[in-house]
Amino acid sequence: MKIKNIMIVFMAISLLLTGCNGTAKAQADTQAEDTDAEANEVKEASREIFAMDTYMTLTAYGDNAEQAVEEAASEIERLDALLSTGDENSEILAINENGGGELSADTAVLIERSIEIYEKTQGAFNIAVYPIMEAWGFTTQEYKVPSEQTLQELLKLTDASKINYDDEAHTVSFEQEGMKIDLGGIAKGYTSNRVMDIFREWDIDSGMVNLGGNVQVLGEKTDGTQWRVAIQSPDDSGDYLGVLSTQDKAVITSGGYERYFEEDGVIYHHIIDPVTGYPAENGLTSVTIVSADGTMADGLSTSLFVMGKEQAIAFWRENSDEFDTILLADDGSLYVTEGIADRFTSDIDFQIIEK
Ligand code: AMP
Ligand code: MG
Repeated sequence: MKIKNIMIVFMAISLLLTGCNGTAKAQADTQAEDTDAEANEVKEASREIFAMDTYMTLTAYGDNAEQAVEEAASEIERLDALLSTGDENSEILAINENGGGELSADTAVLIERSIEIYEKTQGAFNIAVYPIMEAWGFTTQEYKVPSEQTLQELLKLTDASKINYDDEAHTVSFEQEGMKIDLGGIAKGYTSNRVMDIFREWDIDSGMVNLGGNVQVLGEKTDGTQWRVAIQSPDDSGDYLGVLSTQDKAVITSGGYERYFEEDGVIYHHIIDPVTGYPAENGLTSVTIVSADGTMADGLSTSLFVMGKEQAIAFWRENSDEFDTILLADDGSLYVTEGIADRFTSDIDFQIIEK
């Protein structure tokens, strides 16, 4: 899986950066203009890091590119340590062990947004699924299929309305003993949003971050054209679903293929249907969300995957001013909402979803 992810990331990056320099027009420019261009050449800084269980690439263009990328990389490492349930010093681990606690600014925002998305998606997005994630072995990679009885017992601990968040005191408490939360469905989108904030603070007006195939871009490319973001494909071909031209947006994809195990010929993946406790099997193979709000895009990619096609489309129709989406159904059919349809290209014929 890791190797596949690396390939996708590198493919996405090469696509993103293709065409940054030199169009036919530029080649025809005079010597004098070339010299001018060199004097004004935009500084570029790039960095690759491994964090949040994935390979990440950061790129910024501008006078402060180096400092911006440096600070963004430190921020990613800080957030990884803060939010990962696997890190023994993480705030989330402490909250889960103590049934609540005081929250740092980032965790407070993430819990607040998670509750908001839980309500908006009528429970499809549910950070209280962590006990179920544990039962399936996704937290330790010691995978197993839990019994129906175990799941029924654990489902009693996954009522996210029992997460009491105090937005003034910045504390959280769980109403029921044994409840635990998992920000894995939203943390990467929050992180890419933070990277964009840091880039802006350093006056960067062109940049991108790729968190294992989840991309967020700032502004346009330095040649004034839009970024071209490759959408991950769920199969092992190393191919991609299509390419989206965009600016100032997060492009975040969820799919069962990203993390799964197989037992007795059945595939069990990591996106849990909070109603059943089983991996969500509602007819979708992959969901991409395109939005200026990376945190929401991440939360919704997980949510729409859980909802399934019909409900996901209905949800988009109600919230089409906030995001667009690309849905790949289990039968291979591809759906793209009208807000991005003219900027999406694919070898697969796709159906445009209209309001
Ligand atoms: P993503 O890759 O963004 O779809 O996030 C998947 C991750 O979110 C899983 O690995 C879990 O950590 C967590 N998760 C699984 N099911 C849900 C759910 N229904 N709501 C919220 N988070 C979930
Ligand atoms: Mg998500």
